[in-house]
Amino acid sequence: MLEINQLHKSYAIGDSSLHVLKGIDLSVAKGEMVAIMGSSGSGKSTLLNIIGMLDEADSGEYILDSVTIKNLTEKKAAIYRNKFLGFIFQSFNLINYKNALENVALPLYYQGLKRKERQEKARFHLQKVGLLDWQTHLPSELSGGQKQRVAIARALASNPKLLLADEPTGALDTTTSSDIMAFLQQLNDEGKTILIVTHEEDIAAMCKRIIRLRDGIIMEDKIVTQVRAEPHV
Ligand code: ADP
Ligand code: MG
Repeated sequence: MLEINQLHKSYAIGDSSLHVLKGIDLSVAKGEMVAIMGSSGSGKSTLLNIIGMLDEADSGEYILDSVTIKNLTEKKAAIYRNKFLGFIFQSFNLINYKNALENVALPLYYQGLKRKERQEKARFHLQKVGLLDWQTHLPSELSGGQKQRVAIARALASNPKLLLADEPTGALDTTTSSDIMAFLQQLNDEGKTILIVTHEEDIAAMCKRIIRLRDGIIMEDKIVTQVRAEPHV
């Protein structure tokens, strides 16, 4: 599903440069649920952004679903992103002036679906995250956990092959985090491949594989026995 070889990334800071990723090798198969761990500043988001085609590596190879991701035009990257990937962020990144249904339906617009089809699909996914009754509510009227569930529904709406989550529980309390993780585990049980960046050990333990980044390299990569999350909703 995903293959990365000798990936390097530096950021220019004034006259100097900061070498963040120093030769990452990583391969992820369909159906995996992987945690990417590391202390703050270790390059987790940088790696996830490259995997998500939001940013590009300086060198190395990245193959996603048999497609080599390199020198893509902005347009082509957007097409692949929309086709292959779903994103979940710590801060939800919902559009404030759109209601839950419109937020979920939005990425489907870029897939060229008709309005009716978009709304039907969006309703299906809102139902899946248990928020159909909240479809006309604005993000400001939802709790953090509900917002993240809307964001998950939005990420799922285009049926992506790979779900990328950057600190998805970072802004949530423990109970709500558990709910979100239980939901992600359920999606993974159904076959969805999921990559989660986190700095929390208990969240990582709810995945099936833990990768630890330090100083720009992978210092550990191991399969673990998944701790099942306790849902509360
Ligand atoms: P993490 O997600 O593990 O906390 P990041 O990938 O966000 O780490 O950042 C890794 C390092 O790269 C940090 O030192 C950060 O300050 C730096 N960095 C991240 N993005 C940029 C950028 N756009 N320009 C310059 N430096 C950056
Ligand atoms: Mg980060």
